[in-house]
Amino acid sequence: MTGPSPTPQVRATVHGWPRQGPSRELKKAIEGYWAGRVTDDQLRTTAADLRRDAWRWLADAGISEVPTGDFSLYDHVLDAVVMTGAVPARHRLAFDADPLDGYFAMARGADTVAPLEMTKWFDTNYHYLVPELGPDTVFTADARVPVGQLREAVALGHTARPVLVGPITFLLLSKPAPGAPADFQPLTLLDRLLPVYAELLADLRAAGASWIQLDEPALVQDLSPAVLNATARAYRDLTSLTDRPQLLVASYFDRLGEALPVLARSAVEGLAMDSTGPAAANLDALASVGGLPGKRLVAGVVDGRNVWINDLERSLATLATLLGLAERVDVAPSCSLLHVPLDVAVERDLDPQVARWLAFARQKTAEVVTLARGLTEGSIAPQLAANRAALASRAASSLTRDPAVRARCAAVTPEDARRSKPFAERSAAQQARLQLPPLPTTSIGSFPQTRELRLARADLRAGRINEAAYEERIRAEIHDTIAFQEKAGLDVLVHGEPERNDMVQYFAEQLTGYLATRHGWVQSYGTRYVRPPILAGDVSRPAPMTVAWTAYAQSLTERPVKGMLTGPVTLLAWSFVRDDQPLAHTARQVALALRDEVADLEAAGTAVVQVDEPALREALPLRQATRPAYLAWATEAFRLATSAVRADTQVHTHMCYAEFGEILGAVEDLDADVISLEAARSRMQIADELAAAGYAQAVGPGVYDIHAPRVPEERELTDLIDRALLAVPAERLWINPDCGLKTRSWAEAGPTLERMTAAARRVRDGL
Ligand code: GLN
Ligand code: ZN
Repeated sequence: MTGPSPTPQVRATVHGWPRQGPSRELKKAIEGYWAGRVTDDQLRTTAADLRRDAWRWLADAGISEVPTGDFSLYDHVLDAVVMTGAVPARHRLAFDADPLDGYFAMARGADTVAPLEMTKWFDTNYHYLVPELGPDTVFTADARVPVGQLREAVALGHTARPVLVGPITFLLLSKPAPGAPADFQPLTLLDRLLPVYAELLADLRAAGASWIQLDEPALVQDLSPAVLNATARAYRDLTSLTDRPQLLVASYFDRLGEALPVLARSAVEGLAMDSTGPAAANLDALASVGGLPGKRLVAGVVDGRNVWINDLERSLATLATLLGLAERVDVAPSCSLLHVPLDVAVERDLDPQVARWLAFARQKTAEVVTLARGLTEGSIAPQLAANRAALASRAASSLTRDPAVRARCAAVTPEDARRSKPFAERSAAQQARLQLPPLPTTSIGSFPQTRELRLARADLRAGRINEAAYEERIRAEIHDTIAFQEKAGLDVLVHGEPERNDMVQYFAEQLTGYLATRHGWVQSYGTRYVRPPILAGDVSRPAPMTVAWTAYAQSLTERPVKGMLTGPVTLLAWSFVRDDQPLAHTARQVALALRDEVADLEAAGTAVVQVDEPALREALPLRQATRPAYLAWATEAFRLATSAVRADTQVHTHMCYAEFGEILGAVEDLDADVISLEAARSRMQIADELAAAGYAQAVGPGVYDIHAPRVPEERELTDLIDRALLAVPAERLWINPDCGLKTRSWAEAGPTLERMTAAARRVRDGL
């Protein structure tokens, strides 16, 4: 007879921590440094203090091995650029002269030197800086930052686990450097990169690390055999080193899939796997590869990128199935807690009944500690009871279930999401109503958000002016914006969106079901933090949201004024969404609320309505297999919002630039009468792609790159229009900027729009 197996030690850990500090101290220090108010010593001290406080908080909360190196002054991928010596040639001199200023120059540009490009970190709203690599790239290990942070933690008495971007993810996230062949594959540099990682591992080992975490989220995507081979090779090489810490390879955001057997067979000592959302498939896969005998499994059972409390009993059951599958199991959030706000406890304005459904970084840490304790000591009955009660209160709340909303959603038919007439008939009816010239001109919606407008909003919030005075101020702005557009000769006008702080928040504040936080800041990029609204309950629209402003604008002009709404997918993608029902249901609720708004706009005389969906592409799931289902509900939601209108009401949509290729079919499925897109910088590439795909509806490929703080020559604009005409026939071509003008000044936007209408007239006359 064998005795009972000893309960294995189960610990709690986290992959990474919010960087900014409880009161955004880091943002203030960095921006102060840029403005010359804060010295580099002061900035370094603030950063070190924030790290010290975070580690102490984590250790006190029960995290036995604190992460280091996850902290960053700007971005962890930029830190990996520095750590591997992959500083682009154009930044080299400045970086060598002053690593701190050189670092910020790579992030933000300096004088005439362009920064690195920025893009989204997988399917999150965090943006990283894209490494630039070419055949000539020479990597060299620069361990100063990771070793420095590790030493600090060790000196403070902590056991620490340095976190680095892993070599495969680093290469897969890179792009060809300027001057490198466009088809250059950074992954071909793996053999040059691995010795640098070997050196970094040795340095970290020498500084006291017994474990290192290598983050490889790129491995949760659909991978080619070449990438899988490279992964096998990388971890064979790195594990064969003699002088190294134990390696924990961390994956998150989706399942490991075909990369799981590769990593399970490798000699790495540990694997971190997400088991939330689409990554839940990791659990069965783990069992079917026979577990991770002899390895450490870091089980990401607590959703690290959403804000809801965990179902502790369910997680305990999941964890119980994992215990036998590895030598050691740690309980963890699914990914770095960088993607959630710091602390629910400071949200004094939230109804306490609702606040107890929420878990931010600190609460999630408490959850993983509780779960680890529950698995070893079993002494968590009070926490389980409180958790059960909170979950029950959420499920039964009238905020999360509004019978009227549910009945309306259930009654939706496929016809509700279809226009009554095909595009050809609609476009004839619209032309009869709108009487637009060929190559009609319009804008994307927002006009410059001036300092005065922001001040007026601040004055209103602070009670220095009342609602009536604020509205008067907005009306004056709309008046001027309409007058400008008439003078500039635009054909379809907009009211300019002066009343909107943000294209999601503005609607979230007026729809039921959304919560707002006061301190729920999350890093978007660098020192830019956002406070995403929380979509907590059933969504409805108690009253019109935009009709009064649009109608006021229309009262000032004979020309058509376009109503302007944010689309359902974007309203979800830029919020925290509920996890207690499928996203498709939430999208349908939002779509129905927008449908009411569209109907009211139409009833108020609006002949053109634009529903913006810039997030359609970025919310695309990471793996191919889950994309068709997403695209089906996403496009249905858009059509549900826009299909109730008359044939002669024109529906526009707008998307910012995206790699469109794989969603062209979905763009067609939106069945919008007109789509505007960013196209100026790529010289109309997107128009070519749409044409090649046989897109048959009207297109407004942007002719004005609104990111560039300059006024283009009329000549540049006519050139772009001529170029667009090669892809889109004149009957279906619209002339507009790339995107909204809210970040531009009137001094830039005004003359540019005047030149744009002049260019359109010139080309029109030559048709
Ligand atoms: N209508 C919005 C604007 O003009 C669109 C913004 C966007 O595409 N991100 O500001
Ligand atoms: Zn845009």
